[in-house]
Amino acid sequence: MVPTRDLLAPLDTFERRHTGSAAAEVAAMLQAIGQPSVAALADAAVPADIRLPRPLNLPAASGESAALAELRSIAGLNQVYRSFIGQGYYDCATPGVIQRTILENPGWYTAYTPYQAEISQGRLEALLNFQTVVTDLTGMQIANASMLDEGTAAAEAMMLAHRVKLGDSHEASVFFVSDRCHPQTIDIVRTRAQPLGVTVVTGDHRTYTFAGRVFGVLVQYPDTTGSIHDFAAFFEQAHAAGALCVVATDLLALTLLRAPGEFGADVAVGSAQRFGVPMGFGGPHAGFLATKDEFKRQMPGRLVGVSKDVHGNPAMRLALGTREQHIRRDKATSNICTAQVLLAVMASMYAVYHGPEGLKRIAERTRRLTSLLATALRSAGATINAEPVFDTLTVGNVAAVRVHAAAAAKRINLRVVDDYTVALSLDEVTTLEEVQTLLACFSESAALDLSSDLRPLSAEFGRSTPFLTASVFNRYHTEHEMLRYIKRLEAKDLSLCHSMISLGSCTMKLNATSEMLPVTWAEFGKLHPFAPAEQTRGYARLFADLETWLSEITGFAAVSLQPNAGSQGEYAGLLVIRAYHQSRGEGHRHICLIPTSAHGTNPASAAMCNFKVVPVACDARGNIDVADLKAKAAEHSANLAALMVTYPSTHGVFETAIREICATIHAHGGQVYMDGANMNAQVGLTSPGHIGADVCHLNLHKTFCIPHGGGGPGMGPIGVAPQLVPFLPGHPVVPTRAASPISDLKSQIGAVSAAPFGSASILVISWMYIRMMGPDGLTRATQFALLNANYVAQRLEKYFPVLYRGGHGLVAHECILEFRPWKKHGLEVEDVAKRLMDYGYHAPTMSFPVPGTLMIEPTESETKAELDRFCDALISIHGEMAAVASGESDKLNNPLKHAPHTAAAVCATDWPHPYSRETAAFPDAPTRAAKFWPAVGRVDNVYGDRNLVCSCVGMEAYAEAPKA
Ligand SMILES: *Cc1c(COP(=O)(O)O)cnc(C)c1O
Repeated sequence: MVPTRDLLAPLDTFERRHTGSAAAEVAAMLQAIGQPSVAALADAAVPADIRLPRPLNLPAASGESAALAELRSIAGLNQVYRSFIGQGYYDCATPGVIQRTILENPGWYTAYTPYQAEISQGRLEALLNFQTVVTDLTGMQIANASMLDEGTAAAEAMMLAHRVKLGDSHEASVFFVSDRCHPQTIDIVRTRAQPLGVTVVTGDHRTYTFAGRVFGVLVQYPDTTGSIHDFAAFFEQAHAAGALCVVATDLLALTLLRAPGEFGADVAVGSAQRFGVPMGFGGPHAGFLATKDEFKRQMPGRLVGVSKDVHGNPAMRLALGTREQHIRRDKATSNICTAQVLLAVMASMYAVYHGPEGLKRIAERTRRLTSLLATALRSAGATINAEPVFDTLTVGNVAAVRVHAAAAAKRINLRVVDDYTVALSLDEVTTLEEVQTLLACFSESAALDLSSDLRPLSAEFGRSTPFLTASVFNRYHTEHEMLRYIKRLEAKDLSLCHSMISLGSCTMKLNATSEMLPVTWAEFGKLHPFAPAEQTRGYARLFADLETWLSEITGFAAVSLQPNAGSQGEYAGLLVIRAYHQSRGEGHRHICLIPTSAHGTNPASAAMCNFKVVPVACDARGNIDVADLKAKAAEHSANLAALMVTYPSTHGVFETAIREICATIHAHGGQVYMDGANMNAQVGLTSPGHIGADVCHLNLHKTFCIPHGGGGPGMGPIGVAPQLVPFLPGHPVVPTRAASPISDLKSQIGAVSAAPFGSASILVISWMYIRMMGPDGLTRATQFALLNANYVAQRLEKYFPVLYRGGHGLVAHECILEFRPWKKHGLEVEDVAKRLMDYGYHAPTMSFPVPGTLMIEPTESETKAELDRFCDALISIHGEMAAVASGESDKLNNPLKHAPHTAAAVCATDWPHPYSRETAAFPDAPTRAAKFWPAVGRVDNVYGDRNLVCSCVGMEAYAEAPKA
């Protein structure tokens, strides 16, 4: 267990901080489940034929301070130049109060996706603010929270337009993309369009003639060169041709510019990065997508809406869930699951802190500086792109090589265009001195003319409508008010700061502080994703380490770090499989077998690749029905593209037939995609590559310790077997596999994320985790994840049956508890989930993969004490349920049905319940020592979907309205 520690060894070894229990506790748990050791438990749980033959080949564990020092030296290989490259990424000032109390605060970053609305009102409110910022500034009616980045948001907008205009039809169709969109956006759209048979036509919108079935157009406003166009006439043409109009835009510019909704846009997309979120070499940032009310049911991604709780008070929750993959599977509006919540929260708080006037000042200042520079450059003989402009200039008639060299000498990056042209974007933190320095890079003699006027924007360009009029954006402009607002919201949300969050499949393990600290180091945070390679050697080293380590852990030949979430890894991995088949002249293979127990993202991702999903049955023990699999593989042999399989299964079992399953698929010419969400049960014991899979995504925000951020960010890199390496995602701006021969680059699929290495800055978290755990620590973490799950299963099965077990009666790293028998007493699994809140706990995963169940994944990071406290709570709830079943408690008026209990309800004069207030709020001793109060009573989901309100203006109106 805990290795014998030499007295001279480092004192800050990490494994004992990450992997919970003390030796005596471990012994007690082992005894409870009847296993002699954690190693023996792993031997019994994991089928022998898939066990790794040797230990992981990774660097030995490093202490916390030594790992941080090593990463510091890697960070030192990055050069922090001042980047004016623009192209979708801008330097900005993260207000200190937001950096410290949100970005660096586990109270915000360790929360889960807000499915349990009653204990998530804080981030739901912040997300509602985000949606309001986006709808106000874009002039659209409804916005989601959030997209993964600007490029994928544009691709999702294309898909939305395709659904609206063409439905399920796959007739030949065209999507027009202005050639003045950012190159990475164009590439992502092309990649996304290709499998669907959509032709992407790029060109100049001013000369484009509509031909063929054009279902949508995409333009950029301001465009990538910096010019701002009036799209009103073009959009009229597009609408006349039966197309939807998509605008990729910039929130800061929109504080001054006419809103897209006012000149005919149907969808507006973009990135909220420059609202206070560091560039981070590409991410994470919140993308956004806003549209008209009539298209709301076609919207991708998460949407927060206002509803009411049982007491009639306004309460928020995720709305229109029926669009999503959990329910709609391959018919879902997108495959997005993990989004960019933490970054959307930051961006919304930036808007709250600055308010409409503050934002306008930032924008006006930026525009003023840009105009000064433009005037001076023009008088120095350069040409500038067409007026009006906001923050970006494309400067022509210059000796670009010389300009870049002069800039580099001053540690400044400009955007490379061609030999005679240089582009640059100014930003919030640009100073007058910097503008002077920039000018000097172009001309030694030119000078700024500070007396020159800033021409007002003419009516077709200037903004005339107000924005951010809701009181939340006009109240908290002092730091004290801001600090308290953030803290007030934080206090409404249950996070890992309070108690274990045992969400099956989601792996809510420790997000250690030492892993998090480097995220905000300037050497990682301040880099532009398109900065020259010589400045980003630290990142290159970080990526190389991670690619090597993750390849070793997955048993694969190579890893792509580009996908921004598990869902995006699935999409990327399936595209890679598709490209592989095509390269062998087997492009007709389009059947994707998916077990019925699969996560909803699987079929949704398959649909994005235009694969046809054929479900495979599961047997009574929760395993894939191998006979059914074999029959379907044989039936579709000629067209079989892939199987998507989760291992261990979503039922929490190591299926013994997994090798046979992989072999069957290969025998019929298919490839095996392994959903790696359950890697926390594999690391060091077995691996996807060893088992026989061909590609697998890793949710770094599950197994590799990136926090969930309240619903994102995440990272979903994919590992692939040798035959798939040539097809890994490329990028139009930065080569993603510099070492590969050119032929490799040609075969790459296009970009799947806007940034070449996804949300690069959070990769430091997984690097730290692997570095501090070492090969033995990682393997033991897996063993302890198995131990904790089996211990919980053993303690609870007397009360709630464990649905599935594998060999030796053991579960894997999670277990599913059965609640359906209680239905006949009127008790639903949801009542249990809500009652757990009164005990200070977040419910385990509810009704996935089996309706009417809870799936518990304790992870290795919880101690026996915490596991026991959680089990005690569920056992106590069992007693309450039994009282209802026996008739001792009222069928309707009982603590389960009225859970969760708010402080207001418990303190109210009127107490209309037969059980005591004490039972309601303080059902066990731990709640007395530290009570977490749910902010609202049970939320009415249906009401909110019938009366959809998705902005804080609606929320405020609701709060002020008299109650019925
Ligand atoms: C979490 C999860 C996914 C989706 O991953 P995201 O990172 O949320 O996109 C897919 N499959 C399974 C089994 C999961 O648990």
